[in-house]
Amino acid sequence: MIEPIISLRNVRKIYKMGDERIIALDHINLDFEKGKIYCLLGTSGSGKSTLLNLIAGLEKPTKGEIIFKSAHIEKMNEKQLANYRQKYIGFVFQSYNLLSSLSALENVTIPLIFRKIPKKKRIAKAQAMLKAVGLEKREKHKPSQLSGGQQQRVSIARAFISNPSIVFADEPTGNLDTKTTFEMMDLITNIAKANEQTLIIVTHDLEIAHYANTIIYIRDGNIEKIENTDNQTELGTTVE
Ligand code: ADP
Ligand code: MG
Repeated sequence: MIEPIISLRNVRKIYKMGDERIIALDHINLDFEKGKIYCLLGTSGSGKSTLLNLIAGLEKPTKGEIIFKSAHIEKMNEKQLANYRQKYIGFVFQSYNLLSSLSALENVTIPLIFRKIPKKKRIAKAQAMLKAVGLEKREKHKPSQLSGGQQQRVSIARAFISNPSIVFADEPTGNLDTKTTFEMMDLITNIAKANEQTLIIVTHDLEIAHYANTIIYIRDGNIEKIENTDNQTELGTTVE
């Protein structure tokens, strides 16, 4: 087996609310490989976002280990976590999370500002990225002057601009119509494949799950089933 890019070992996440304990993740063991597309599929409240937040170093597990290329995420301090996220992680959100006062181009440059890339280089890279998502004619537009699909394209450009190893997409098409949803999924998966990035998509929509190499079914904080779709895809292509 290929060395995983990220591994979860016996991961638990418990939230305490007064006297109540909510087991958001019960006992998770998972390996994610470089360059593969994963889908986390489960109903609302099953623990999908919690799992993303733990892998992204936004929250600490209550128990267990999260290992990124031999580095233990669960042991990192805030500064190390910020560095980990800036260098290796990209995010696409359902609600786009663009800064409303900034132009499309400026929004895309933000991760490069954190990484202290000089301005000229930032702008050139952001322009290339906006072109890659088909928005080269919308550089100066503010988010409110763009359609939902266009705003999601800007957020995709921003997620990928610093060439992260892992890109998370939490319900990325939740606010989009069917046609735009498939355009967006094609775009995200094509960029990830071209750059051999690991893509982890969260959804409750089985149609979106079909874009993945591996579908991880999650239920009540446990992995219910892991389905490898690679064989099916290959069969489909050889039949023609
Ligand atoms: P999903 O993304 O699959 O809808 P979440 O990971 O957001 O599910 O939530 C899993 C469970 O953990 C839910 O029961 C939710 O109410 C609970 N939960 C999530 N975040 C918190 C929090 N910050 N405090 C307390 N409970 C939380
Ligand atoms: Mg969620």
